[in-house]
Amino acid sequence: MKVAVFSTKAYDRQFFITANYDYEHELVFFEPRLTRETASLARNFAAVCVFVNDQLDARVLEMLAAHGTRLIALRCAGFNNVDLKAAAKLGMAIVRVPGYSPYAVAEHTLGLILTLNRKIHRAYNRVREGNFSLDGLLGFDLHNRTIGIIGTGKIGQVVAQIMHGFGCQILAADVSVNPACEAVGAKYVERSKLLKEADIITLHCPLTPETHHLINQDAIAQMKQGVMIINTSRGALIQTEDVIQGLKSQKIGSLGLDVYEQESDLFFEDLSNQIIQDDLFERLMTFPNVLVTAHQAFFTKEALQNISETTLSNITNYEQGQPSPNQVSLGSAIAPKGGVSLGL
Ligand code: NAD
Repeated sequence: MKVAVFSTKAYDRQFFITANYDYEHELVFFEPRLTRETASLARNFAAVCVFVNDQLDARVLEMLAAHGTRLIALRCAGFNNVDLKAAAKLGMAIVRVPGYSPYAVAEHTLGLILTLNRKIHRAYNRVREGNFSLDGLLGFDLHNRTIGIIGTGKIGQVVAQIMHGFGCQILAADVSVNPACEAVGAKYVERSKLLKEADIITLHCPLTPETHHLINQDAIAQMKQGVMIINTSRGALIQTEDVIQGLKSQKIGSLGLDVYEQESDLFFEDLSNQIIQDDLFERLMTFPNVLVTAHQAFFTKEALQNISETTLSNITNYEQGQPSPNQVSLGSAIAPKGGVSLGL
């Protein structure tokens, strides 16, 4: 099938070209994001392949449909950027990659926890500058500490298994129980109990109307003094202003983010020669106990291989008229206010 691949970086091309030996689709790579301004690049492409920050609102979908596009292949799990109603009206099919490596995201979560706790990000800079002082680098044993996992699906489960290995007490909050988490000693509790008792709170639930700004002033007030908060799920789970207040008052002891509510203006691009206009983000950058990575938790070889293979297989299934478990339909998610839902 002729596929226009938007928002491509060198690493996307590398993994897609390799995986495509088995599928033989006609892939054309475009660097720009898909927007109203760039949609015409997809003229006469039956399929369009997109990533997390591409825009697939009703207008863009209408433009694509008018130019002959019938399939949108998301190379991610989330479909919050797609107007599913408009796609259904236009008879367009939407496919995605629901899971590609829970290990990638769970292991990155651990990287944030260990780095923040033992201040490795600060130690790295100090030692390079000939400063071998330990002042300010004091951490705590993870052993016997309580970790609260909100969302115990594929990624949350791997986090629970890893933390079990560290000898942590595990509290879990989810709308459904995952027996694999209970098997490693996770205790399911009400979210409020988890907020009160956890030394580390890590978020692994999807973004829905129910979970939007889950970590806000009220939630922070219930937490332990000096709590560590980690978010590798979706930026809007956290109300950024409230978290900044929590950091200033020192209620929050450290914060690790791989996602940020306004990340689409920043992440995946080199802006090092520009003046960043996002004052909230810049305020976050002033705290020594805040560590931000730019949505890279998924970024492992294994994940990129799975993403490219599943995406190309989704396209082949569509071309051959085969039903796909990876098809997204209107009933797949309740789109919350502002059009956000499940994540990458
Ligand atoms: P999953 O669907 O396997 O698990 C999500 C879990 O959240 C489920 O157990 C579900 O019951 C639970 N949940 C739903 N609503 C909840 C609520 N209100 N409160 C508590 N729990 C709730 O998904 P997954 O593969 O584990 O991914 C989790 C999230 O990780 C995704 O939604 C996505 O936003 C994010 N993600 C981030 C990256 C990255 O690179 N940073 C990569 C992949 C996924």
